[in-house]
Amino acid sequence: MTIEYINGLEVDAITLSDIVQSLPELDKQSGPFTFISVNPQIGLHAEEYPEIVAFINQATHRIPDGIGIVKVSQQQEKKIKERVAGIELMYELLKFADEHHKRIFLYGAKPEVLSAAVANIETTYPGLTVAGSIDGYSKLSETEIVEKMNQAQADMIFVALGFPRQELWLSKYYQAVNAKYFQDVGGAFDVISGMVKRSPNIFIKLNLEWLYRSLSNPKRLYRIVELPLFVMKAKKWYRVNKRQ
Ligand code: UDP
Repeated sequence: MTIEYINGLEVDAITLSDIVQSLPELDKQSGPFTFISVNPQIGLHAEEYPEIVAFINQATHRIPDGIGIVKVSQQQEKKIKERVAGIELMYELLKFADEHHKRIFLYGAKPEVLSAAVANIETTYPGLTVAGSIDGYSKLSETEIVEKMNQAQADMIFVALGFPRQELWLSKYYQAVNAKYFQDVGGAFDVISGMVKRSPNIFIKLNLEWLYRSLSNPKRLYRIVELPLFVMKAKKWYRVNKRQ
């Protein structure tokens, strides 16, 4: 797989359709496969979390989940052509799970959001089994969470705890869980639950989903400045580390 270094993080030059086409082949292998979003927020704060950097750099799929990543690539090696939105990859994995009768496990989000997301997934994808779910505010210990996932015999684990909790959790525990596919999905359960709307299509098409999400949630307003900060930092990184 072609990779490009963005601010020191490995990002795969991969499209959603590349991943979808590879799923039948991946499914014949033993895995595990780790689908991890690399976005400007992670890029900006990566240095504060060396364990996340190490985890991303050894993940099987580091997806370019942000227009900021694509733009930075265009300023350097131009290997990354399009954004792969984490939620769109999750929908594709759910579709695959539906068609192949897989067992999935959801970890994260508020309890009421999680149960609504589970109900919507069960209705939309009747061929899969939601083998278990744990909300992101549960008092269960990390070991109990791992045990529940293993008891559920899940094939796919989706973790929606937001950055950096989801990456830290996955980096520590994914090897202890006997599943084949892992994905960190940020706020995807909120959208799937129907409680949070995804940005209108026009914003997605114009690559302005990040702006819409920042403006529509006061808690995310600070993200508006993160994008230019990330771009500046990544440019500096490339100047210093430029690969010939
Ligand atoms: N979340 C959680 N536990 C926490 C913090 C956050 O389960 O301790 C959930 C939150 O409810 C939301 C998801 O993590 O469903 C993603 O949060 P956020 O919108 O901050 O992440 P982003 O989409 O920006 O990655």
